[in-house]
Amino acid sequence: LRSEMGNVERLSLVGQMAAGITHEIRNPMAVVRGFLQLMREKSPVSLDHYYRIVMEELDRANGIINDFLSLAQNRIVEKEEKHLHGLVQELVPLLWADANLRGQTIELKLGDGVPNLYLNPKEIKQLILNLARNAMEAMGEKGLLTILTRTDEEFVELEVKDTGPGIPAERIGRLFEPFYTTKAKGTGLGLSLCMRIAERHHGTIAVNSAEGVGTSFIVRLRRLADYAPALSELKSSREA
Ligand code: ADP
Ligand code: MG
Repeated sequence: LRSEMGNVERLSLVGQMAAGITHEIRNPMAVVRGFLQLMREKSPVSLDHYYRIVMEELDRANGIINDFLSLAQNRIVEKEEKHLHGLVQELVPLLWADANLRGQTIELKLGDGVPNLYLNPKEIKQLILNLARNAMEAMGEKGLLTILTRTDEEFVELEVKDTGPGIPAERIGRLFEPFYTTKAKGTGLGLSLCMRIAERHHGTIAVNSAEGVGTSFIVRLRRLADYAPALSELKSSREA
């Protein structure tokens, strides 16, 4: 019991440090961002080109910090009863804009009888977005991204499927490692965050991939009915 306590304390210390560090980094970054905007407005020569690059990099760094913070902190997420399809629909305009730029297509196959789930909307949207972004980044032009949902007695499944190059079997095992990336500008935090979010929802993520055919990430979330009695669990997660 003692060593377990030690573990919990260490985890929260890491979380606290992450919060402290990210706060200290975010503040100067916000200042840099503000002054950049001002410099562009006041500058006699056009800085648009440099401005765009610097802003993109700043926003990227900010995104990494946010993902890292979300990963390092075992934070308690507020959950509410919501429908998965509503969240998917909210993301559709964003996903279509991205897909259009890449010459790709999106298809939704939202299954019948999917019940409400007990979830944190922000986190589940982040999860779907991360999986969809990966899918789009993996595919070339004419790629097809399919988002499917289905349900059985116990689980609701969300599948994000692409027609990309697939993932070699020897790489599958590393996908969810923090900082594992094969992209020049990747952070390797996307899938570890997805895994963390699924865990916070008592869910799992599985991968199916065939080289030259495509990849499918399948998120399984427990149905609300199985959840409702688990109040003790909710209480303990709130105390953690
Ligand atoms: P990042 O996207 O920043 O590289 P992720 O954690 O989101 O980090 O993904 C890790 C790696 O998993 C990617 O770099 C890529 O090699 C692989 N990957 C993830 N999704 C797919 C996909 N749909 N198709 C092919 N490879 C993928
Ligand atoms: Mg990613």
